[in-house]
Order: sequence, then C-alpha cells, then structure tokens
Amino acid sequence: VTKSPTGLLDGLDPEQRAAAAAPRGPVCVLAGAGTGKTRTITHRIAHLIASGHVSAGQVLAVTFTARAAGEMRTRLRALGVEGAQALTFHAAARRQLRYFWPRVVGDRMWDLLDGKLRLVAQAAQRSRISSDAEILRDLAGEIEWAKASLISPDDYPAQVARLQRDTPMQAAQVAEVYRQYEEVKNTARMLDFDDLLLHTTAALEEHADVAREFRDRYRCFVVDEYQDVTPLQQRLLDAWLGGRDDITVVGDANQTIYSFGGASPRPLLDFTRRFPEATVVRLERDYRSTPQVVELANKVIGAARGRPAGSRLKLVGQRPPGPEPRFAEFEDEPTEAGAVAGRVRQLLDGGVPASEIAILYRVNAQSEVYEQALTDLQIPYLVRGGERFFERREIRQAMAALRTASADPPSAELVPAVRAVLARVGLTEQPPAGGAAKERWDALLALVELAEELASTVEGASMGRYVAELEQRAAAQHPPTVEGVTLASLHAAKGLEWDAVFLVGLAEGTMPIQHADGDEAAVEEERRLFYVGVTRAREHLWLSWSLSRHPGGRRHRRRSRFLYGLIPDEHPAARVPRRQPTRDSRAKPCCRICGEQLANTLEIKLGRCARCPSDLDEGLLDRLKEWRAERARELKVPPFVVFTDATLIA
Ligand code: ATP
Ligand code: MG
Repeated sequence: VTKSPTGLLDGLDPEQRAAAAAPRGPVCVLAGAGTGKTRTITHRIAHLIASGHVSAGQVLAVTFTARAAGEMRTRLRALGVEGAQALTFHAAARRQLRYFWPRVVGDRMWDLLDGKLRLVAQAAQRSRISSDAEILRDLAGEIEWAKASLISPDDYPAQVARLQRDTPMQAAQVAEVYRQYEEVKNTARMLDFDDLLLHTTAALEEHADVAREFRDRYRCFVVDEYQDVTPLQQRLLDAWLGGRDDITVVGDANQTIYSFGGASPRPLLDFTRRFPEATVVRLERDYRSTPQVVELANKVIGAARGRPAGSRLKLVGQRPPGPEPRFAEFEDEPTEAGAVAGRVRQLLDGGVPASEIAILYRVNAQSEVYEQALTDLQIPYLVRGGERFFERREIRQAMAALRTASADPPSAELVPAVRAVLARVGLTEQPPAGGAAKERWDALLALVELAEELASTVEGASMGRYVAELEQRAAAQHPPTVEGVTLASLHAAKGLEWDAVFLVGLAEGTMPIQHADGDEAAVEEERRLFYVGVTRAREHLWLSWSLSRHPGGRRHRRRSRFLYGLIPDEHPAARVPRRQPTRDSRAKPCCRICGEQLANTLEIKLGRCARCPSDLDEGLLDRLKEWRAERARELKVPPFVVFTDATLIA
C-alpha cells in the first residue's frame, strides 16, 4: 500500500471514513447507487493492510460479476494494494475447490460444464418429458434457482408449493428432470457453476483440516453488492467465516436484480440482527452523477412498490449540474440505433473517450442492431455479456494452441508468432461483419493486442513469457481489454459507471420484459434494473425507445411504463395522451385445462385450445372475444408522436 493509513482516509467523507477506519469486526454499509460503497470497501481493505491489521494475502473480497470484480481489482491496484484477492464468488470457489479437490475427492478436478442445456435435454429425455428449446431453457433456469436456493430434487415440490412459485411444468416433473440432470452430470464427471459453490461449501463444512487450513489463511472478508446474495452463496460465506465476524458487507436493496435466480436483500437488511455490534453506515451523497441524473434516479426508485424498510434512502447529488437527460422516441429499432450511434459520434468528436460511453440494453439479443449502427459509423465497440473472457470457447482453444506453440523453439514473436497461432483458431485478417463472429474475432484480437503490449514493454519477450502472462491473467480473471464503446446488458453493468450512458429499447415488452408483465414482483425487479441503468451515468444520460422493430413494421409498441412521470411536461412525447396498460385489459385468458394463454382467432372460431386441445367453455370464449375486442380498440389509439431526427429532442 503506497499511502499512509491517514492518507487513505483523506479521500472519503465522514461516513465513508467511519466504515473504512472501523477496527476489525463486522461492518455494514447500506447505501444507494454512486454513494461510494465500492470506494469505501477498497479504502477499507487498503487501510486495514496499511495499519497492520491484516496482510494483503489474508483478504478475500467477493462480488457477483466478473466486471465488478475487475473494477474492485483496478481500484485496489490504484491504492497500491497487491496480493489481496478480489474475485467473483464463483471464481473464488473454483480456485479453492481446485486446491482442495485432491484432498477431498482424490483425482483431478472435474471439468466445468460449458452451458447446461445439452444435459438438461438428456435429463428431460430420461424423465420421458418432451420439451422444446424454450422449455429446456426454463428448466435449466429452474434448476439453477433450486440449487442457488439450496433446494434438493426431493425437497423441490414441497418448497415450491410453500413459496407458491410458478413452475415451468408440474413440480414433480421438474424435480424428476432436476434429479436426472444431477445424475447425468455427475456420471459424466462434470461440474456446473453452482457445483463450484456447493462442493467448496461441503469441503469446508465436512473436512476439519480443509477448514482449518482455509481459516488460517483468510481472515478478512468483504462482499460488494451484498443485496444479491443467494442462500447458497451465504452458506459458502458462512463456511468461510467459520463463526468469525471479520466481515464487511456493502449493498443497496434497491439494486437487487437477481431475485429471479434466488438472490435476496434480506441478509443485507438483517445484518445488524445477526451482528448487533456491527458498525453500520448509511451514505446518501451521490458522488457519481450530476444532480439531473440523481433526480431522475430518485424518481425511478421512488415509484417502486413494496420497498423494504432500510432501503428508502434518497440520493443527494454532489456534482456540479450537467446536461438534462434526453428522451427520444423512434419509428423503429434501426432508426433508434442509427441516432444513438450518431450521438456517440458527436460525443467522441467532442472529446469524450470511447471507454467512457456505454449503450445498455435489457437482453443481449438487442446488441446486434447497435453493433451494425456503430460499425456503419466506424466506431469501435466491445460487447460485454460474454463476461467470462477466459471461459470463452475460442479463448480456451487459443490458449491451448499458444501453450503448445510455446514449447516449440522460438521462430518469429512475438506478435507475428501469436498471430500465426491465432490464425489457426479462426483469427481472420478482416473482421467479420458483426454478431457473435465479430465478438469472437474481437476476443482473439485482444490476445494479439496483449502480445503487442508485452512486446513493446519487455525487450525480446518470448512466447513462453507471453503465455505465462496469459495464465496469470486467467488465474486472476483479468482479461485484456480493448478500447471501445461498451455494449452491455443492464445486468452486466451493475457497479460500473460511464460519462455517457444510453439506455435503449425502453419499450413495453422489452423493459419491463414481456414475461414480467402481470407479475408485480417481476415488474418491480425490472424497475430496479432500470434504476441500475439510470445510475450508471455520470453526466450524459439518453433514454430511447422505438415503436416498431423493423422499418415499416406495425407500430405496436408503447414506451415503457417506467417512463411515466419522468418525461418533462414540455416534451412532445409527454403530451400525447396514452393509457397506462392495466393488468385486466392485458392479461390474456388462459385455458382451464393446460393453463396456456389463449390468443388466436382460430381458437375462437373452433372453440378449442390450440395447445391441449380441449374445448373452451362458453364463459371462457366470451372472455376471449372481449379481450380481443379490447385489444383491437387499444390498437386504434391515436398515432404516437414520432421523432426520427435525434436533434429534435430537447
Ligand atoms: P454502485 O451502487 O453503483 O455500485 P457505489 O456506491 O459502489 O455505487 P462507487 O462506485 O464506489 O459507488 O462510487 C461512485 C463514484 O463516486 C466513483 O467514481 C467514486 O470514485 C466517486 N466517489 C465516491 N466517494 C467519493 C468521495 N468521498 N469523494 C469523491 N468521489 C467519490
Ligand atoms: Mg459499487
């Protein structure tokens, strides 16, 4: 650590300082976005080390996404902290499991599963359940939820009944697929991501020597984004602690965005009940964003329903005023993307670095049209989502090839040699047009750029040296970075910040996502996700949506319900009367036998459900007709004001 203990506290406000300088023991920081939670914990780690309370090697800091862990590492490095681990829960567990595996299991650690759909499909087949791709995805998600919630196949039916949880198919069937999945996976000697946490927990809980060695080594635990902890992660954390209380947690219950996956802000909100002597700090000053962005963020989260006590904090902006957030409505997605790219170009020309600009969307599938628009304007970009750089297939292939090549006698280097090896695994001269192929190309190119960097800093750097550097980065989950505008999903953006943020595709059906409609808890989670997006912006914030997907398509989309009350009155889009979609008029009637939503005219005509196909009784038929009539009326709402020109937006 380069700074003195007091020097480290200089850059903090009094509340942040209280948390950072608290002696060893439990500390909890409950605060909103941009208030300096991550800053506080990185300073706390540095302070604990600088004041001699712990050594860097005894610190284990964890968070949830690779990007957020990377952000923590960057900040720790800037404070001169070397050797403290800052990892995702999964990366930390994986590393520990690899170390303890020979002792608790015996042979080589099993391989990590590359996506579980194939095994879920096998499991469904063995359970004699016919399923399409969509159902398999639902089943895979449900198995993940169950494992993260510490629910076994045997317990599954009773637990979902208790929780009144909607299940993708009958609970007993899900349980059977789950059971078969575990069997198929274990027989194939594979681990899924949740297994990393489960097995590590078991190793610590069931092997006293493992626990002793671990607890000797790690003494200080820090969790960022604690609002998103799952029961499984909490259990691992407890196993790490082993009854000790040297734990610092920070989080914001308003940013809980993984509850669909079993996460809950409860452990954060109940932290003081568990550790009554904890130092508790609340932060309200927002250091990240302009007052305009802060005001918008306060409105977004102020509209949330059912916020738990302890999460109702209001942010107070500390930065000088900046530009007003902009709202823009477009005819279709390519027009929206084109306008966004045009605005990005203006920002770049105005001196904003590409790395300070992000385009954030709800689902990864939305990236394509933005990739195209940015490519058209020759703007470099990076797609974040494929977060686990070193787990990407092409990177693993490339690393295997590079490792082999490093054993050969040196031919060319470094850079041409690396290029030659990567050409064999698919690095073409020219980049592909876009999409997944372009993403793979970019990932491989990042390896070339790392070689260039090494060659320019280390005289005569060899292939062996380069591969060692790569291995080290892979172990630390520290991917090489490429300069460019960031394209990322809102989930992947958590904890990060940019000078300029574009929140795109803010239309009903995308934000909130379609399947959340009609489910209040799910809609609230979408709202928190929107809040996470808004609070990523330091200065420029752009919110846009489009009315149809394709040029000339039917304009059947409405702007997101989350935008109500945010758009200034003088804005043309705010004056168009538009009905809030209500649950009653939108919820489609469902078949009483199979439970599927009824939708098409053929069903009305034949009086039969298209899925199961049982006869529909008269009451249901009437409701279906009514629903369709209502829908038809809705579609005749006067046309929206459409902006096709971004400069029109005040
Ligand atoms: P999130 O909830 O989004 O993760 P956070 O609470 O972790 O946000 P940080 O990322 O730590 O917030 O801080 C937001 C920004 O404010 C960072 O750029 C950080 O450097 C800056 N910041 C935080 N505290 C201070 C301070 N006391 N003085 C100046 N800048 C600060
Ligand atoms: Mg943070």
